Amino acid sequence: VDTLDIETTRAWILATAAAVDSHRDVLTELDAAIGDADHGANMHRGFTAVAAAVGGDYAPETVGQLLGKVGMTLISSVGGASGPLYGSAFRAAGRQLATPEADGDQFALALRAALDAVRALGAAAAGDKTMVDALMPAVTTFDEAVTSGAGLRAAARAAATAADAGARATTPLQARKGRASYLGERSIGHQDPGATSTALIFAALADTLDG
Ligand code: ADP
Ligand code: MG
Ligand code: MG
Repeated sequence: VDTLDIETTRAWILATAAAVDSHRDVLTELDAAIGDADHGANMHRGFTAVAAAVGGDYAPETVGQLLGKVGMTLISSVGGASGPLYGSAFRAAGRQLATPEADGDQFALALRAALDAVRALGAAAAGDKTMVDALMPAVTTFDEAVTSGAGLRAAARAAATAADAGARATTPLQARKGRASYLGERSIGHQDPGATSTALIFAALADTLDG
């Protein structure tokens, strides 16, 4: 079935934690170039705490409850900008999913809410060289796929491809939000760390649904 139930959601989150673990050094190197070299450590600390919080015995009643727990855990365990931004995104998505399973239309609304939350908190526009540059195309692509009749799984794969393309497209941009903006023109020529971790999160979703 082409729906996201609680166990699939848990598997997605644990797959994200695994991807963050295996990409920790990459995220650190990207942040070393245009930030303070802690994005790998921040994401790793956050998703290690998340994996502990939602793994094993944790038994939520809805998909949204699980995603809310992810968000709360990220906010409380990550000190950097990415913690509150991702935390708010997962919490906002969770508020849209007060059911034991979600279909593509429901998940599209959740993704839209996640993007709105990131934009409300961080005030980044498209092209500011932030996670928004991966999240926005992923959300838009997911939405379009579902609207044109695709199921959750196909929409998630399209969204993952769009997020990855969006992350790559941050390289030639000059940062206008976050620490990287302090570098001015020297931020040009490096891929944004947060856009890169956003692409990992969507790849984990698509891979889990393909599973
Ligand atoms: P910090 O910058 O506090 O060290 P991280 O290194 O964990 O935090 O995260 C940096 C990432 O956060 C950036 O690469 C960018 O994608 C994202 N980011 C920073 N500020 C904003 C913002 N205002 N809006 C959206 N994303 C942002
Ligand atoms: Mg940093
Ligand atoms: Mg930092």
